[in-house]
Amino acid sequence: MNKKKIITVSLVICIVAVIIAVIVPLWKYAGLFMQAKKLNQEFALCKKKFYEAENYYIAEQCFSDIIKNTNRIEYKYYHALALFNLMEFDKSKAELKEIIDNSSLVKNKILVSKAKNIYDFLNLSSEKELIYFIKYNDVELSEENSIRLDIGDYFSDLSKTAVWQNPQKVKVYVAKSSRMKTIKRAFQIWDEALGSTVNFVFVNDKQAADITCFCVKQLDGMRLGSTKTYFNKDKKNGKKYLSKAKMQIALHEPETNKVIDEKNILSTTLHEIGHALGIISHSKQKGDIMYYDSSSYKQSKAEVSKRDVNTVKKIYGNI
Ligand SMILES: [Zn+2]
Repeated sequence: MNKKKIITVSLVICIVAVIIAVIVPLWKYAGLFMQAKKLNQEFALCKKKFYEAENYYIAEQCFSDIIKNTNRIEYKYYHALALFNLMEFDKSKAELKEIIDNSSLVKNKILVSKAKNIYDFLNLSSEKELIYFIKYNDVELSEENSIRLDIGDYFSDLSKTAVWQNPQKVKVYVAKSSRMKTIKRAFQIWDEALGSTVNFVFVNDKQAADITCFCVKQLDGMRLGSTKTYFNKDKKNGKKYLSKAKMQIALHEPETNKVIDEKNILSTTLHEIGHALGIISHSKQKGDIMYYDSSSYKQSKAEVSKRDVNTVKKIYGNI
C-alpha cells in the first residue's frame, strides 16, 4: 500500500467513525425525543380525562398505560391521584412511596412534597375518613393545588394570635335568643375537637365571662358574625393573653334581611369562636372554618377542620 492509499483509507475510517459517533447518538436522541413528545401528548390526554370528565377509572387506565413505557415521576404522581379517587388507597400509597423513595433523583421538589403530603394523609386517616373525604372533596382536585388535604395546620400563615391564660376554664356567656342552643352547640363542637387544650364552661354572669355572645338582628357590612378581642401583652415572655372576647351573631342576612338558617348560624358561630380562641386572622384554605372569602359571607361547611384544630393546639403550644 502506498502512502496515498493509507491516507485515503484512514480518512474513510475517520469519516465513518465521526458518523458513528455523531449521527447515531443524534438519531437515537431524536428517537427518544419523539417518544417523549408522544408520551407527553398521551399524558395531556389522560389529564384531560382526569380533570374534565372526572372519569378516574379511564384516567387510571390511561396513566397506567403510559407508565409502562417510562418511569417519569410526574406520570406516577397522577396515576397515584387517580388511584386515590378510585379508593384504591393501598395501590395509591405504593405509587407515592416510590416517588418519595426516589426523591433524590427527582428534580421537581414541589411534586415530591405534594406526594409526601398525600402519602401522610393516606397513612394518618382511617378508611372511613378517606372515603368521606373523597365523597366531598374530589371536586377540589385542581391542577395548581393538586389536592386540598385536611392535614397539618396554618399557624405559619397567621399574622396575629393570642391565648387564654387559663384555657382549661374559659368562661362563656351565651345570651338568651332563638339560636341559643345552636350557639352553645358550636362551643361544644370546638371544646370536643380540642380535647384538653381548651375547655369552655358556660356561665350565667356576663360580667364574669371571658367570652360573651349576643345575637343581634343584623350586622353592618357583609357580615354574619363579629368578634372583638381584647388582650394584654406579657412583658416578660412577649405572649398576648386574651382578656375578653365579645361575639355578635346576626339573625338576619345583610341586604336581603332573610332569616339565617341554623346551619349558617352554626358555621358563623364556629368561625367566630375560632377568633375568640386566639386565631385573630384567617386561614387561606377553603374547607377550614377560619377561611375567609370577602366575596361570600357564608361559610361552606358547618364543621371545624383538622387544620383548624391543629392550629389552635399549636397556638397553645400543645403540638
Ligand atoms: Zn373572621
